[in-house]
Amino acid sequence: MPKVNTKLVLWDEIVGWCWRLADKVRMEGFKPDVVVAIARGGYVPARLLCDFLDIHDLISLQILHWGKAAEITAVAHVKYPFVVDLSGKKVLLVDDIIDTGDSVIIARDYILSKWKPAELKTAAMQWISPVAKIKPDFYVEEVKEWVWYQYPWTRAEDTTNFFEKIVKESAKEGKLEWTYEELVKEFRNWYGIDVGETYYRIALTRLLENGLIERRGERYVVRRQ
Ligand code: ADP
Repeated sequence: MPKVNTKLVLWDEIVGWCWRLADKVRMEGFKPDVVVAIARGGYVPARLLCDFLDIHDLISLQILHWGKAAEITAVAHVKYPFVVDLSGKKVLLVDDIIDTGDSVIIARDYILSKWKPAELKTAAMQWISPVAKIKPDFYVEEVKEWVWYQYPWTRAEDTTNFFEKIVKESAKEGKLEWTYEELVKEFRNWYGIDVGETYYRIALTRLLENGLIERRGERYVVRRQ
């Protein structure tokens, strides 16, 4: 059993989910004038929805979190609080997943109070119903047991964060040296997924650059923190 319940998401699944999401929006007869992508996770779904619903206006609002993959903890807020006039417009606010719901709530409240659209509806591919503080107007999958969706657009970032966690946790138990193969094996044990060598190499390069580990021959050695 993996330590962290993780699902490796493929690009084709994204296209399929967004197609179904677009269908739901269409079936309800909602015709948005503008799509607003919550950055960064909502970018790809928002762009696909524009294509599938033939919407030409796409803007983005970044909600910032302090926290890393699979351990989002702290306060969310609007990073660049710019103002645009959306009076009279219908808005579809899009994110990849509704987990705690904090991002979408903050984005929705900000848009309603500052951009003043005529109407706003929310959409996400996944909705983690037991933990979310809000139910999106449109969603494809209701997730009943918490899962980390390893979307293709955060693969390098997640792999880096996952490696970092493995290395730091294992260092507490005295393991300070790793081969590439050991790290990959542990990654698969912890997360139950395999992201492929390209991503493992990118992640290791980042950990070398940020000084968590150093290279000694074929081994990666944890540096004193
Ligand atoms: P939301 O307001 O959409 O619930 P959160 O504030 O909980 O989002 O999380 C912020 C962002 O972090 C999400 O939009 C998503 O990009 C990412 N994220 C959160 N939870 C998960 C998860 N379980 N799997 C993958 N990505 C996630």
